[in-house]
Amino acid sequence: MNTKIDLEHIHCDSRRALLKSTMGFAALGAIGASLISVPELSDAAALTKDTRDKLTPDQIIEEMKQGNERFRSGKMSPHDYLAQKRATAAGQYPAAVILSCIDSRAPAEIILDARIGDTFNARIAGNIANDDLLGSLEFACAVAGAKLVLVMGHTACGAIKGAIDGAQLGNLTGLLNKIKPAVAATHYEGERTSKNGEFVDEVAKTNVRLTIRAIREHSDVLAGLEKDGKIKVVGSMYRLSGGRVDFFT
Ligand SMILES: [Zn+2]
Repeated sequence: MNTKIDLEHIHCDSRRALLKSTMGFAALGAIGASLISVPELSDAAALTKDTRDKLTPDQIIEEMKQGNERFRSGKMSPHDYLAQKRATAAGQYPAAVILSCIDSRAPAEIILDARIGDTFNARIAGNIANDDLLGSLEFACAVAGAKLVLVMGHTACGAIKGAIDGAQLGNLTGLLNKIKPAVAATHYEGERTSKNGEFVDEVAKTNVRLTIRAIREHSDVLAGLEKDGKIKVVGSMYRLSGGRVDFFT
């Protein structure tokens, strides 16, 4: 008579084991695993709509912090990318959208130990927000349901250095011009050159804050979602040395 219950129990345990083994943003989903029906078992390698919709922006930030901690300590989740690919092929329910720099040393998904399907990722030198990027962020949140916009700057950023130096090269000149307001807005008493790593990183922090301001001022869609408490727009800095992501919260 307990066959059905036992089977359900086994399925739940299997799902918990799967969620545990895949970690990533599914770790929070494991808390409510008993609420998730058995047919979704095959989706354990990726966020489901149900799981994502239950997450709050603060829980997503916490999950990212834990993922970065796993990355820094060398204890990343064992990623089965083929399973993640299969689980996301028919649909995606990312929890966040990350606006970060193109720097090869700052790949957001890796340094946050996230999985395929966990986050949208917009990358542009100097993580600035122009109209097209705002459109991408709006799609991620208002259409696809992401609940967190994370702007991520990083230390020793070449784009920041270029803006400080007034570098000029083709289309890059216009991009660097968009970072220059951050140079001017950075209060710093010491040597204000690209050779001073401390100054470069202070400008990068200012640049993240100005990008967040630009998102709120130039996107009525995102500002409205944030005002309604449906999303959060948060800044962060990734330290190339040490691998820590500091959240501005
Ligand atoms: Zn950079």
